[in-house]
Amino acid sequence: MIPVLKIMHVSPPESKLKSPDGKKRFGAKLLDILGPGGVISSADELIAYDSDALTGYRIKPEFVVLPENTGQVSRIMRLCYEENVPYVPRGAGTGLSGGALPAEKGVVISLSRMNKILEVDIPNERVVVEPGVVNLWVTNAVSSYGYYYAPDPSSQIVCTIGGNVAENSGGVHCLKYGVTTNHVLGVEMVLPDGEVIETGGKALDRPGYDITGLLVGSEGLLGIVTKITLRIIRKPESVKTLFASFDRVEDAGASVSGITARGVIPAGMEIMDNLCIRSVEEAVGAGYPTDAGSILLVELDGPVAEVEAHMPIVEEVLRKNNAIQIKVARDAKERELFWKGRKNAFPAMGRISSDYYVQDGVIPRSKLAEVLGNIGKLSEKYGLRVANVFHAGDGNLHPLVLYDSAKEGEPEKAHELAGKILEVCVDSGGSITGEHGVGHDKKRFLSLMFDENDLDTMNLVRCSFDSKGLCNPGKVFPTPRTCVEPGMKPYRENPIQKSGLGEMY
Ligand SMILES: Cc1cc2nc3c(=O)[nH]c(=O)nc-3n(C[C@H](O)[C@H](O)[C@H](O)COP(=O)(O)OP(=O)(O)OC[C@H]3O[C@@H](n4cnc5c(N)ncnc54)[C@H](O)[C@@H]3O)c2cc1C
Repeated sequence: MIPVLKIMHVSPPESKLKSPDGKKRFGAKLLDILGPGGVISSADELIAYDSDALTGYRIKPEFVVLPENTGQVSRIMRLCYEENVPYVPRGAGTGLSGGALPAEKGVVISLSRMNKILEVDIPNERVVVEPGVVNLWVTNAVSSYGYYYAPDPSSQIVCTIGGNVAENSGGVHCLKYGVTTNHVLGVEMVLPDGEVIETGGKALDRPGYDITGLLVGSEGLLGIVTKITLRIIRKPESVKTLFASFDRVEDAGASVSGITARGVIPAGMEIMDNLCIRSVEEAVGAGYPTDAGSILLVELDGPVAEVEAHMPIVEEVLRKNNAIQIKVARDAKERELFWKGRKNAFPAMGRISSDYYVQDGVIPRSKLAEVLGNIGKLSEKYGLRVANVFHAGDGNLHPLVLYDSAKEGEPEKAHELAGKILEVCVDSGGSITGEHGVGHDKKRFLSLMFDENDLDTMNLVRCSFDSKGLCNPGKVFPTPRTCVEPGMKPYRENPIQKSGLGEMY
């Protein structure tokens, strides 16, 4: 039976961890399940888990647990369910929307020790993994057979498949090959009451509802994924990568639409503006021209004949759109270097700004020039620099709002500016997130896109999995807001929020 909707609008049941005695007893039960090596409770160690990569929000959990198998995950979740303890699943903690932010008086369930590749099935082009497997390990495991795993977030050297599944992550090659949901065929998942279910499998389609599709991108609110069946694909016969430099970012944007209009779908198309180019160049020396207003990276892949035929078309479109320089990678090493620049765009920002806020919005490709212009105006209005790097082919923007947390009021300003950018995206017909999820950070914007009925329907789905609201609570769904504007740092709680009745933002 689907529980009543109202359940999501009241505060969650009283956590047993709220009293010192309750906490002590609960800790002992965790130790029973996991042994001493599997439970972290010392204040110093817990700090390492108090946020994900969106470090503006921090909450220290009461416990972090490190299960090694599905049975342990199930027992922990059943215990939390019985004792009304909220919990948050965690992969590598590279999420950028506060999705793995711990719950107040809660437990973090880290999947980092469940990191085995369980099966490599080349004849059927499938790989079965535990959730803590790092994204790049999948490609490494199948590369010698001529295969790879297509979704490649820029964080692929650290982020986990479990986190990718929860966020439906994208990456530079998702333009042609699709995002995580297009590559996940089945999962094993532990429901919030501890029951273990399996959805999908190695076959492409099954009768009934596509529950796997529902779980991918559900941001850890419906349960914990403990096993994933992935599709791998053959490496293309040929790959060619180039970058073109432009004076104006608008010309790079027009090239993107121009290339697809000519019937060419590159494996990836990525744009960086001057601020990004300069910091990346300083950090990795990718060979980008630092005086360019923007660069567009284009990768073509496929059969040799197709790539050879498409290359002149791409170059023609680039020239028509005022490309200053077009540089084709001479070999695999140079190709890797071009991508290394792009993939290091976020970390490289640290060179020019002590703090930055990674925004994630989507716009129709045709609105690129207009939206970038509006972001520029917002940047001027708020007096904060915004660097732009984006999956241009998908219309997925990543404006990086640069600020200095040591300066009074700047974090708050950056937060507000980042929010205004999302409003611009939605006004242009786009969305509040492309690939980083809603998490804790963007739930206040969900109602920009969905009305009460939409949100209630989504809540019904959530309730049918998690009637107590204990699994990754406080994420995705907007809750009534207080009128307090506390900013991001330091984190201060008000009583309405503490009771679970209101959201402070
Ligand atoms: C430098 C950098 C570059 C990035 N580039 C990209 C990019 O190109 N594309 C992109 O999409 N993202 C990108 N990201 C964001 C981030 O890497 C992805 O969202 C990634 O999928 C998070 O994986 P994780 O293992 O770190 O998950 P975490 O951050 O630990 O968790 C993310 C969410 O998944 C949930 N979760 C984790 N494991 C499970 C599980 N087993 N079952 C259920 N829920 C679970 C958590 O509760 C949380 O809600 C980038 C981040 C950084 C820091």
